[in-house]
Amino acid sequence: MRRSPELRPNLWDGLVGLAVLLAAVALGLRLWLPGGSGALTAVIRAEGQPDERVALSALTEPQERTITAGGYTLHLLLDREGAEMTASDCPTQDCVHTGRITRSGQSIVCLPARVSVTLEGGAQDGPDVVIG
Ligand SMILES: [Zn+2]
Repeated sequence: MRRSPELRPNLWDGLVGLAVLLAAVALGLRLWLPGGSGALTAVIRAEGQPDERVALSALTEPQERTITAGGYTLHLLLDREGAEMTASDCPTQDCVHTGRITRSGQSIVCLPARVSVTLEGGAQDGPDVVIG
């Protein structure tokens, strides 16, 4: 049983190893370069208004958005790496206290104003990253 076919398992081992290595490198790149392979996008939802999608990776400089909804005015700061509600005149201030979000799946929610800002895409993109 120990004859020439020993080459074949070695070849397969090599291919499998290479595939694993490539997958690891690809994953590593996705983790280390946020937005490198999938654009990180901020989805701004305000009741009664169409969703607004902002491709953060495309921003050259931080951008401030003013969102008016539910009688409140919210100030949202967007930059290449994330989003932050810098100010709001809502009573709870939960949205401001949420702080900065930088990962896909995270969101800032302002209940009084019925506004949500959710990050999509980017390094964490995938069907297994659905957070209730
Ligand atoms: Zn709020």
